[in-house]
Amino acid sequence: MNVHGHRRQEINRAIKDQLERVAHTTLLGLTHPSAIELARRLIEIAPGELSRVFYSDTGAAAMEIALKMALQYWQQCNPPRPRKTKFFSLCNAYHGDTVGAMSVGGIDLFQRAYHQLLFPILQARGAYCYRCHLHASYPACRFACLDEVEQMIAEHADELAAVVMEPMVQGAAGMLVYPAGYTRAVWEIAKRHQVLFIVDEVATGFGKTGTMFACEHEGIEPDVMALGKGITGGYLPLAATLTTEQIYRAFLGTVEQQRTFYHGHTYTGNPLACAAALASLDLFEQDQTLQQLQPKIALLSKELERFKQLSLVGDIRQCGFMVGIELVQDKQTRLLFPGRERVAVRVTKEARRRGVIIRPLSDILVVMPPLSISEEELGMLLNVTYDSIVSILGSSLRTAAKP
Ligand SMILES: *Cc1c(COP(=O)(O)O)cnc(C)c1O
Repeated sequence: MNVHGHRRQEINRAIKDQLERVAHTTLLGLTHPSAIELARRLIEIAPGELSRVFYSDTGAAAMEIALKMALQYWQQCNPPRPRKTKFFSLCNAYHGDTVGAMSVGGIDLFQRAYHQLLFPILQARGAYCYRCHLHASYPACRFACLDEVEQMIAEHADELAAVVMEPMVQGAAGMLVYPAGYTRAVWEIAKRHQVLFIVDEVATGFGKTGTMFACEHEGIEPDVMALGKGITGGYLPLAATLTTEQIYRAFLGTVEQQRTFYHGHTYTGNPLACAAALASLDLFEQDQTLQQLQPKIALLSKELERFKQLSLVGDIRQCGFMVGIELVQDKQTRLLFPGRERVAVRVTKEARRRGVIIRPLSDILVVMPPLSISEEELGMLLNVTYDSIVSILGSSLRTAAKP
C-alpha cells in the first residue's frame, strides 16, 4: 500500500517531529492537533458532502464503523426508521476480515469457516464481465445484471440500511473492474430507494485508480466512505470513516437521549499515524503525484497490450494503477487451471526470484505499483512479470491467434 516510496524523508521527519511532541494520546473524549488538521484536509479532498471524520486503525474497523453508523442513523433520524437494519452488497466483495466486514463480504473462500458468526445480508451478483453470469457482453448487455440489483434493493428498501460497495473495482476478488457507469448506476439505485450508500475506498483511495478517490470517476457522492491502506502513504496503521452532516446530526442530542456513537479503539487516530498521513497529503501536492501518474497509467496500459498475445492470459483488467492479469488454461473456453497447479503462485515466486514482488489471487496476478514508481521501474516490473509467466507456463504456451 506504499504510495510515495520507502524512506521518504518528508514522512520520516513528520513522524519524528510528532514523536518529539507526543507519541499517543486518546481520542476518547479528547483530540490532538494532528487529528484535527488531518480531518480538515480529508474533508477538503473528499467527494460530495462528506464533512465529518471518525478515525480508527484498520480498513476493516473503518468498515465496521460505517455499518454501525448507518444502522444507528436510521434509529435516530427524524422520523426514525428502525426497521432499516439490513445491508446489501455484491458477490465477490471484500471489506475486511472482522465479523461485520466479513458479513458484507462476498468471497466464499475467506468466510466459509466463520459462516455461523456472520449476520445475514442481501447480496446480488456483480459485474464480473469476463465471466458474466448472464453470458452477455458489455456494452450490448446495457447492464442487464443491474436488474437483479435494482429488484432486490427495491423490494427490500424498507428494511435496507445501506448498500455497501467497492467503487470502480473489486480488489481482493481479483481486480474485477466494473464497466464504465456501473458504480454510478448502483449509487443511483440506492438513492432512488432511500438507502444509504457506503463506499469502501480502503483499496482504491489515495490515487490507486488515477484519481484521489475512485468515486471521482463517476461523480459519486457517498453517504459514508471508508479509508485505510494508503492514507499514511503506507507507513503506519490508520483508517477513517467519513460521513455527511446529515448523518452526523442524528448523533447529537442531550445526555438523556443517549445518541452517542459507541465505538472507540485505544489507538484510534494515533498521532504518529496522523502525522504520517498529513506528510503524505503534502507529498501529493509537492510531487504533483496525481498529475505525474497519468502518463504512467497510459504507459502501463500500453505495456499490458503484449500480455494479451499470450495464449494463457485470459483477461487483463486495469483501473489506473490497479491491474489484474487472469491466467486461464484455455483462452477460447476461459477454462481455469486446476487449483492444485497453483499457476499464479508459481509465477509470483518466479518474479520474486527475478527481483519483483507481485501477488497472486487464485489464478489472477495482481500488479499494483506504488504511485511513485518511475517509468523505467514500471518497464522492469512488467518485463519481469511477462518473463515470469513465460518461464513458468512456457511449455504450455501456444501461439495465440493474431489479434
Ligand atoms: C484491504 C481492504 C480492507 C481491509 O483493510 P485492513 O486494513 O486490511 O483491515 C477493506 N476493504 C477493502 C476494499 C480492502 O481492499
